[in-house]
This record gives sequence, C-alpha cells and structure tokens, in this order.
Amino acid sequence: MFRNAPASAWSPGALSKTAYVPEAEAPSVLLTVGDGDTDAFTYFGFTRAAARTSAEVPALVQRHRPAVAFVDADAPHVDAEACCRAANAHGLEVAVLVTCRAPQQVPALLIAGAHAILLKPFAPNLLAGRLGRLVREHTEHRRLSGWRNDAPFASHLIRRWADVCCPTCQEPNATAFDFTSHRRAWFACLACAHVWIDARREPV
Ligand SMILES: [Zn+2]
Repeated sequence: MFRNAPASAWSPGALSKTAYVPEAEAPSVLLTVGDGDTDAFTYFGFTRAAARTSAEVPALVQRHRPAVAFVDADAPHVDAEACCRAANAHGLEVAVLVTCRAPQQVPALLIAGAHAILLKPFAPNLLAGRLGRLVREHTEHRRLSGWRNDAPFASHLIRRWADVCCPTCQEPNATAFDFTSHRRAWFACLACAHVWIDARREPV
C-alpha cells in the first residue's frame, strides 16, 4: 500500500509530533486493504477495524459505525467505488478517504461518494493530517445533524469551483481533489471524467 513511501518515515517517533489524536472518543478506521502496513494506523490514534475485501465493508460498517474509512483502491479484491457506496448507505454516513495510484480513477470515485482523495505515493504525515481533518469535519457534521440532517456530509478536502472549466468538454464546476505542490492541484470533471493539473486555488 505505501510501497513508495520512504521506509524510515514509518517509525512511530517520526509520526508522533504530527499524528492526530482524537480527544473525546476514539473513532475507528475501516480498512479495505488485503495487505500492507495497516498497523501504522494505530499510531494515528485510531481504533482499527480491518476489511480485506470490499465485500466485508457493509457488515463492518454496521458493526463498528466508524467515523472514517480508508480505502486502498489498488488493493486486490477491493472495489473502491462499492466501498464508497456501502459506507454511505442506510443512513450510516462514513467519511471515506480513498487512495489510488491512477488519477484517472478519481472522477468515478467522487461520483461514488468519496469524501477525500490521496494520490500515491504520499507521505505518512500527509495521510495522518487528512484523516484528522476528515474526522474533525465529520464529528462537526454529526453534531449539527441533530437539527440539520438534510445535508449530506461533505469535506472541504474536495472543492468544486464554479469558474474552473474542463479543458476537454468545457463544463464548469471542476472539482479540485488533491495537490501536486503549493501551487498546483489536480482537478476532475465529473461530466466527462477528464482529470488535469491546474493552478491551485484557495477559498476567499
Ligand atoms: Zn469534461
């Protein structure tokens, strides 16, 4: 799963200063990874429920009610789109972060309900930061949903820009889903499934 990450970056000591530690309750991370360094998630402060295939996801979501799910779209026997749909089915809204190697996969993942995307390879502290932010946003969403449960969960890690048009089909409302640097970001067109790199934008 994290084959391209530097091996030295996985030491608990390297993560301890940046890892997110939940305050009130320990949320679970649901993993649909058949192999890999999944024990590293314990360093991030999560209780972990592991699924080796996407077929196991619905039962584990029902049993553990995780706040956040981490889906490796490249793992064997993992259908990431099915995982996204299962995590958000039956009113059990789970924040889903999907990692994948090919950006071309991303439009379908966003349509299936992924709340955050992390392209490989990535640094472990970036994963910790994204998971932490997802949990904070999801916790706030659940807190507010008592009186405003008509709005589905949406993370600010994915942003739709009305004035960014697809260079292929000219549709507006491009979706920024990951960054390549401080100045460049990945965009996706959900109309024609094109992905491209463009200038990074920040909300005003
Ligand atoms: Zn397009």
